[in-house]
Amino acid sequence: MKHLFTSTGLRVMESLTFTQTLYAFDFDGTLSPIAETPDAARISTKTNDLVQALSAHAPVAVVSGRSIADLKKRLLYSPQHLIGNHGLEGLSSKIESTTQAQSVCEAWKKQLGKGWNQKFDSGVFIEDKSFSLALHYRRSRNKKAAKLGLFEKIEKLDPPPRVILGKSVMNLLPAGAPHKGVALLELMMSLNLKCAFYVGDDDTDEDVFALPDPRIITVRVGKKKTSHAQYFVNRQNEVNQILKQIVKMIQKCQGK
Ligand SMILES: [Mg+2]
Repeated sequence: MKHLFTSTGLRVMESLTFTQTLYAFDFDGTLSPIAETPDAARISTKTNDLVQALSAHAPVAVVSGRSIADLKKRLLYSPQHLIGNHGLEGLSSKIESTTQAQSVCEAWKKQLGKGWNQKFDSGVFIEDKSFSLALHYRRSRNKKAAKLGLFEKIEKLDPPPRVILGKSVMNLLPAGAPHKGVALLELMMSLNLKCAFYVGDDDTDEDVFALPDPRIITVRVGKKKTSHAQYFVNRQNEVNQILKQIVKMIQKCQGK
């Protein structure tokens, strides 16, 4: 894992500007700082303006675990491509599977709800994203116990979900649902783009980071030994520098 702003990283970034590249970003912890509650997450005006500036030059996507409706509320400017629910929303081929996912999530909610208030404090809650569920425990008074309790609950769910662990959150997706990696590849294919540049910060982004595809350049916000991302930046606020740098390089390439 190398820092993105080293000579190698910058060279790779520059080479992308000479080909048709999709620039894709996760939302929470990448375009927006991690917030205390999912509802408090917002994109800064500065990041927003930079995303908009980049969109004027190249195809841009936001690929998130949030629903598209939720993303739209949080983005001041909506880029051309929004992928929600880890890939279940936003791709035309997924219409049938979303209906299925919705009924599976309804069933899970009922099963999880039984005895929920006796087991957890008010800092543990279910976020219903229609096609997937997120179980949050960031604000629990006893995070360790909450995590264990949630695992016990998840183990009993029928049908069994695909679980993606995040930062104080457990994402439950219907088995066979696409993940961010599949979604990114599908989007590249449908737009007929040769390369992609992806920035993310969490375990759900590992599905993109781990793609064995040299056409995809990956960046993680925060260095982590076990991550499959090729590059990293140290902090979320460096994402602005990434965006600025790409716009500058594209403008240079286009002779502006
Ligand atoms: Mg994230």
